[in-house]
Amino acid sequence: MSAEQGFLSPLACSPAASRGRRFAEVPAPTRNDFQRDRDRVIHSTAFRRLVYKTQVFLNHEGDLFRTRLTHSLEVAQLGRSIGRSLGLCEELIEAISLAHDLGHTPFGHAGQDALNACLHQLQPLSAPECGDEPVGGFEHNMQSLRVVDELEERYPDFNGLNLCFETREGILKHCSRANAQWLERREPEGVGARFMRGTSPSLEAQLANLADEIAYNAHDIDDGVRSGLLQLEQLEAVTLFDMHLRSVRQAHPTIKGRRLLFESIRRMLSAQVYDVIASTRQAIQDAGVGSLDEVRQAPPLVGFSPEMRTASAELKRFLMLNLYRHPQVMETTRRARSVVSELFGIYLAAPEEMPVPDGMATPCSPRRRVTDYIAGMTDRFAIREHARLTGVRLFE
Ligand code: MG
Repeated sequence: MSAEQGFLSPLACSPAASRGRRFAEVPAPTRNDFQRDRDRVIHSTAFRRLVYKTQVFLNHEGDLFRTRLTHSLEVAQLGRSIGRSLGLCEELIEAISLAHDLGHTPFGHAGQDALNACLHQLQPLSAPECGDEPVGGFEHNMQSLRVVDELEERYPDFNGLNLCFETREGILKHCSRANAQWLERREPEGVGARFMRGTSPSLEAQLANLADEIAYNAHDIDDGVRSGLLQLEQLEAVTLFDMHLRSVRQAHPTIKGRRLLFESIRRMLSAQVYDVIASTRQAIQDAGVGSLDEVRQAPPLVGFSPEMRTASAELKRFLMLNLYRHPQVMETTRRARSVVSELFGIYLAAPEEMPVPDGMATPCSPRRRVTDYIAGMTDRFAIREHARLTGVRLFE
């Protein structure tokens, strides 16, 4: 917790007041429940796989680009740093941040879109057939929850990691109404309830969500320039970046190259962090909330000032147009979609090509089994499997 500053806000989630785990466990002697959740995430198989999963650039395209793992670490760092200033529970922020992308497919959004499209091409399952699994297509937040609730195979008495309600709530950042209803049937008043009622999650969950956005906006600039797909001069058109670029040039007239880029990004990150802290404090004061229950009833309170929100949206648009839709990235995306959708068809027709499920695994439909298997793959494993099963190597 925020030991150095010595306070935990009355609005924070306290591990002692957790709504608990799905399966009761004896408390750990030296760690609180949120520390324990963070440790369980770090030791999970899905967490280790993140090192070989794409953020924007494929894992093998360069050694220094962000992967889902380093992205998750940066989210945790930003979240903890902001959370400490606000008196929030750092261990919970860390647990949510480290787990938030566990359900991501190989090849980033391209893989996710392909998997979603594959599921939507099939006839919907009837109610009894999908009793124990999410409905509809592929949602990566639902899949992250599925990883920690069902798919990790580490404990003798239950599937998943049996994390606390508050950690699971933060992991399920978004979910469709159909899946919220499905979650509610399984677990009344559980993590799906807020999507039915339109209430808010904890401040720790809200913060992990915003830290994700702050992290990728900053590191995608860095990786974009490093890859040569973005030029520093192009970034002068982005208000938020340009103001820091100018201030660095003014303070250090001879600076150039990497140091100029890093220092500009560092200043931009700091400005966003301070903005979130000040704006969130103000929003809390304006809302007059005094307890976690009141936080849940209030609109989201963690956020940027209106000016920073506008500036951040401009940066996002720039990255979308110039990086995520860069012809070179689009070409990779096209191949990645083929790998995922061809694998989906092959495994559905020949399930014997997949490993035999663990005896404890909750039974699910063939399509969900294929989805879980593909979603769990690293980029390079998916490429290898695709080459093994089709004889075609789409990536070198
Ligand atoms: Mg993320």
